[in-house]
Amino acid sequence: MVSTLAQYAVIDLHLHLDGSLSPAWMLEWAEKQQIELPAHTPEALLPYVSAPQDCSDLNEYLRCFDLPLSLLQTPEALSAAVADVLQRLDQQGLIYAEIRFAPQLHTGLAMSQEDAVQAALTGLQNGLANTQLFKANLILCCMRAADNKAENLETIRLAKKYLAKAEAGVVAIDLAGAEGLFPTNNFAEEFHYASEISVPFTIHAGEAAGAESVQQALALGASRIGYGIRSIESESVMAQLVRQETPLEMCPCSNLQTKAAQSLKDYPLRRFLTRGIVATLNTDNMTVSQTSLQQEYRLLAQEYQLSRAEAKQLMLNSIAAAFLPAEEKMALLNTIQQRYPQLFE
Ligand SMILES: [Zn+2]
Repeated sequence: MVSTLAQYAVIDLHLHLDGSLSPAWMLEWAEKQQIELPAHTPEALLPYVSAPQDCSDLNEYLRCFDLPLSLLQTPEALSAAVADVLQRLDQQGLIYAEIRFAPQLHTGLAMSQEDAVQAALTGLQNGLANTQLFKANLILCCMRAADNKAENLETIRLAKKYLAKAEAGVVAIDLAGAEGLFPTNNFAEEFHYASEISVPFTIHAGEAAGAESVQQALALGASRIGYGIRSIESESVMAQLVRQETPLEMCPCSNLQTKAAQSLKDYPLRRFLTRGIVATLNTDNMTVSQTSLQQEYRLLAQEYQLSRAEAKQLMLNSIAAAFLPAEEKMALLNTIQQRYPQLFE
């Protein structure tokens, strides 16, 4: 049963590029760019780029991104990183993925945000040319910070520009970063602008802050919620998620590390599914959380007694939640049915 359920790991809608670089890739690209790393083998590097199980909170978790980000400040490295992640997802048997990154965190050397978007899109095209993936797309993250409104607005403007280009590969924006320090409502201006110019968005909410943060994200017009775990604290927020069919992008390994969920036993996924909330299963950060989508399904099968029906529901929810037009969702479903008919028996 356990290994069977891992076969449902075919769609990842919540995957951060910088948190998912393999240690081997980081060593290779540090050498190419003459960047000194604190360790010289993949095993020795891992503690610097992955969060401990007893990680204290989201803020400690977020520190694991400094090193990978330092390697992603040139167009060549950024393109190669996207292509490498796609190749690994392909090897794991995935069919579709939405990879997110924050263009404003890649401007430390000479790249503009737009250079960063173009480099990531090049990597997306290169990666797709060499894999069996049905498709992959990019989500551009705005960041929760104190003084970056101009940068966030630029990210949204770029999302609109590349969303308008058919087949470019940008599908939405996100809001990432320290939710406990910078409340969702601080970013109202950004999301009013996104709504005004019809850029769809997901917002990380209900992780370090409570159900009110999810409520704020919904009020701003989010079409999906990153995690949303603490929606469980509010009947009215859950009712709204059901009514509006707003998907939750859940990431158990990461949610346990940041203490957004105290234990798997109390993880609200099943209650969300039972209530009819469109919950989906994702990795968040393959390297920081030392996971894979198969690992997330395996963990839930072993420690949470996830049933086959629930696994199938999670996969179908991911198709429904994907930032894809309706006809592409149908094509995605058909591709999964052809490649993995056993999932539908
Ligand atoms: Zn995330």
